[in-house]
Amino acid sequence: MDIPFLSLKDVTALHGAEISEAVNRVVNSGWYLQGKENERFEADYACFIGTKYCIGCANGLDALIWIFRAYIELGIMKPGDEVIVPANTYIATILAITENGLIPVLVEPRLNTLEINDDLIEERITDKTKAICIVHLYGRNAYTERIGQLCRKYNLKLVEDNAQAHGCKHTDGRITGSIGDAAGHSFYPGKNLGALGDGGAVTTSDPELAAAIRALANYGSQKKYVFKYTGRNSRLDEIQAAVLDVKLKYLVEDNLHRKEVAHYYYEHIKNPIIKLPDLIPDEQNVYHLYPVFCEQRDELHDYLEANGVGTVIHYPVPPHKQECYKEWNSMSLPQTEYIADHELSLPIGPSITIEEVAKIVTLLNSF
Ligand SMILES: *Cc1c(COP(=O)(O)O)cnc(C)c1O
Repeated sequence: MDIPFLSLKDVTALHGAEISEAVNRVVNSGWYLQGKENERFEADYACFIGTKYCIGCANGLDALIWIFRAYIELGIMKPGDEVIVPANTYIATILAITENGLIPVLVEPRLNTLEINDDLIEERITDKTKAICIVHLYGRNAYTERIGQLCRKYNLKLVEDNAQAHGCKHTDGRITGSIGDAAGHSFYPGKNLGALGDGGAVTTSDPELAAAIRALANYGSQKKYVFKYTGRNSRLDEIQAAVLDVKLKYLVEDNLHRKEVAHYYYEHIKNPIIKLPDLIPDEQNVYHLYPVFCEQRDELHDYLEANGVGTVIHYPVPPHKQECYKEWNSMSLPQTEYIADHELSLPIGPSITIEEVAKIVTLLNSF
């Protein structure tokens, strides 16, 4: 592959010396869990996002699971309650809800913004609805004032899935991850802020929620050998925390490079059969992915691959069509299905060069 979809080797090499130094520091410290590295990263990340608390945990799925589980432990939600969630998302958002015995209520996206259609939310609210979970998918801000108003009107918790949008902002300047009551973040290697393995975090300014989540992710314990909840072991290790703290310093700069790449695509892709997503104000998109839409999507994928360019579909089968959710398989969600059938993500990231992007554009324009 001349131009891979994402070269993690190149991404790491951008800050390679500092990352190696951080890893070695932890290796030589003899302290590998629940130490200074977690403390420092959690403080720095909470400060960056703009919340009082950050709790590191094992991965992004766990971060989301812990938010809902903590609301159940605090008596704010109970199994059987409903959570409004976009139908077009990565499966993990939905898994976090069903894992807790809560019921996802799938809401279609708008095809121009690709995010949850806030016109369709109010009609789906019932007396069992306890939360709206928004997903800043592809790196695009999904929050709207309307969603905030609905949460206040119906006394609903607002949970953000910020796995794909580290550093993204709403129009009022708040950073995604600080807008709702709690947010789940993933540090999977390919994310905008990625570790060298699995990692995740919850951000919130709610002290009770933060305390419950910290306990749940540590066997349910707040005090050594005393167990308040039946928790699990879901911690961020010291090596990953140290790596993340290095990469956090460069996140804004790395996101700016993604913007440059995205703008190059916007300005230079001229093939009328390749549809680009709506351009939204710069601060509201950190371009985790660059999705395009094409009637001949599979041919486009094969053509690019034959010419040495890697692309990925996000996501080929939506949650309601998966075998694990058989009960929803007959549901019709045309916008979500349209995205699954026509979406293709072009290469984008902190290490791809504009020369490479120009090569991809030339290929796209002669498809
Ligand atoms: C990556 C991702 C997750 C899950 O994060 P992991 O760290 O891989 O468990 C959740 N939601 C969305 C939207 C994601 O993209």
